[in-house]
Amino acid sequence: MADTLGMTRQEMLELGHLVVEMVVDHLVHREEEAVVVTKPWAELRSELGGAVPLAPGDPASLLLTLKNLVLKNMQHKDHPRYFARVPGPSSFAAVLGEWLSTGFNANATSWEGDSGPSAVELVVIGWMAKLLGFPEDTPGILTSGGSTAAATGLFAALHHQGRGVVYMSDQTHDSNQRALQKLGVPREDIRMIKTDGQGRLNLKDLIAAIQLDREEGRPPVIVIGNAGTTNTGAIDPLLDIAELCKKEGLWLHVDGAYGAAVALLESGRAALRGIELADSLVVDPHKWLFQPIDVGCVLIRHKGLLEKAFGSTPEYLKDLLGQNDEIDFRNRGLELTRRARSLKIWMTFKTYGLQKITQAIARGIALAEYAEELVRERSERWTLVTPARIGIVTFARKTQLGSEEQEKLHSHLVREISKSGFATLSSTKFLGRNVLRLCTINPLTTNQDIAETLDRLESIPFRTQH
Ligand SMILES: *Cc1c(COP(=O)(O)O)cnc(C)c1O
Repeated sequence: MADTLGMTRQEMLELGHLVVEMVVDHLVHREEEAVVVTKPWAELRSELGGAVPLAPGDPASLLLTLKNLVLKNMQHKDHPRYFARVPGPSSFAAVLGEWLSTGFNANATSWEGDSGPSAVELVVIGWMAKLLGFPEDTPGILTSGGSTAAATGLFAALHHQGRGVVYMSDQTHDSNQRALQKLGVPREDIRMIKTDGQGRLNLKDLIAAIQLDREEGRPPVIVIGNAGTTNTGAIDPLLDIAELCKKEGLWLHVDGAYGAAVALLESGRAALRGIELADSLVVDPHKWLFQPIDVGCVLIRHKGLLEKAFGSTPEYLKDLLGQNDEIDFRNRGLELTRRARSLKIWMTFKTYGLQKITQAIARGIALAEYAEELVRERSERWTLVTPARIGIVTFARKTQLGSEEQEKLHSHLVREISKSGFATLSSTKFLGRNVLRLCTINPLTTNQDIAETLDRLESIPFRTQH
């Protein structure tokens, strides 16, 4: 017996080896490749499209097309000079775990059917809980990413709390607001709380907003706190927010999609103090835990709540809940058939060990600090806007330009350096001002990479309009 559609064992081995070689060569030579490449649809369509294939093709040459055309034309999140949005410095052990589970068509839906993959998912969720300061038996589920993890957690939160007003800082990732709105929370029940000069939620404003809503008869239900904003790495005063939520009977949902990973470090745990008190918490292993896309994770402190919110067989559940931990992941979220996303995380932690992973996270933090140092040294050309915070630094080109022109300049710099293939970074808004932003969480990035990126940004010509 071999392939369902007719490949022989020998063919499968040869093609499999080819894929392994392609991937390993890509990883070994990644810094020589362009960091981001985009082609127009018309061009890609003409090279990839065509009629529905009737006759068989040659898989080796098709794989080459995928490698040379498809996998070239994208943002290489694993490139050491990918500083835009959030990089994805995935590790090879994780890739191996992913491949193996795909090869076996692993599913993590029910205990009856999928006890092995379900057990690994329980183990991995236990590790996440432990590392983030939660009880090790905290329930959770792996999802496709931070956005679906947020939607899952917030759905459970609304189920628990009932409908009412939700609070979050104006620096909160849009996926949270989007999830709430899709879950039927009207725009007018979402409060965006102002942030301080560091991008952290203003506690006094939060307290005042909650009080006002209570006075006017709108029940507050959920507060979303940030464990590292995507914009500037800002961490909300989570401990204060947690205490407030406890006092007010509110649900604390923490978005740690980007930053929760720093809890693996002692310094990070201190910075995130209070995160362990969240009712629900999102972390995105495909960002800073060295996983390939896709995997997000949500932890929910309340046992059985995910099943109450999502379970489709509540009668059957009654027997199961509280008896043992043999859970059906299909009852913890919207997916029925589910990828076994846990195997890659399991492989990563078991292969490299916590210390190596922790060091790699620390390296990302140090790289942003180095970038900050350089920006400060070159103060005749750059202004530091927010100091390095958990792997993110923001700064602006020093000019006499008005804000609109400054924004155009920054976009121009981002576009030009990305087009050159050497590096890519983001421009964003902070405190009403357009800024450049480096996110430096790839441990393969060198100090030289950062210095040369700044050099090149400095040498991109621009004209002011006069
Ligand atoms: C990336 C990110 C998200 C969304 O996660 P996806 O995996 O892209 O869906 C949510 N919140 C924060 C803080 C993020 O950085």
